[in-house]
Amino acid sequence: MSFLWALVPTIVIPSLLLYALFFYYPHVRYLFAPPPLQPPLNENSPPKIILLVIAHPDDECMFFAPTILGLLENGKGRMEVRVLCLSTGNASGEGKTRIKELENSCAVLGIKREHVTVLDNPELPDDSNAWWKPVTISTAANVHVKAIGGVDALITFDSRGVSGHFNHCALYDGIRYYINLPRSSTTPPPCYALKSVTLVRKYTSIFDLFATLTPTMTHLVLAASQNEPVAMQRGIFVASPKHIGTAWKAMRQHRSQLVWFRWLWLIFSRFMVVNEVARIR
Ligand SMILES: [Zn+2]
Repeated sequence: MSFLWALVPTIVIPSLLLYALFFYYPHVRYLFAPPPLQPPLNENSPPKIILLVIAHPDDECMFFAPTILGLLENGKGRMEVRVLCLSTGNASGEGKTRIKELENSCAVLGIKREHVTVLDNPELPDDSNAWWKPVTISTAANVHVKAIGGVDALITFDSRGVSGHFNHCALYDGIRYYINLPRSSTTPPPCYALKSVTLVRKYTSIFDLFATLTPTMTHLVLAASQNEPVAMQRGIFVASPKHIGTAWKAMRQHRSQLVWFRWLWLIFSRFMVVNEVARIR
């Protein structure tokens, strides 16, 4: 048994430090981003507007913090993130508190309060057993995008919703419905979904970087070796230690939600460190 304990200082800790030194730090803030998620080419252009569509207050920092912080930092004032939250998170009757917590969390992440919209629609209840209708989600997104005057890109959950929560998963269907709405003259904005990962990968923090980056790096190297143009349909955002601290601070604004297992999420989840978003077809 003492032999096993001896492995910790001699092998485990040095291995973790080497990984952090040679793999995590070189990729901090390193960003693969498709053009719609990059700042405008012309410095005099108005800021790009990226709309994040979430289901509940706290989704923004528990799942999307690396994306939000990466977009804002990369944009250097020329990217604007707005949040459309489709429920107040009223499953336990704390809806009003949670709206305030969301606004405070977004302020920590760098999103203005006036750019945070929370809907209170009885057809979109905070309920893990309720499957929101795609048409209701699509209508909400359409009305909001029109009210803004158009967005440059939209980001939401994928079909597995990271945690499998029905409300998260329904967003993917709703946004696909929105993309396919009949339009007379305009085209829908590019829409991206946050890629879910397996249960094991979900709790490997910075160590999931290797699994996240390898397929994309392989794709890029193969395309370059065959002189093929690279059509980047996905973005990877890696949070720096400062970003991780900011995401933690944002999560601390959600005091009503800080039960013990959420602390475990903050410590171990790769979604606090790495986000991968892929274009919704
Ligand atoms: Zn949620």
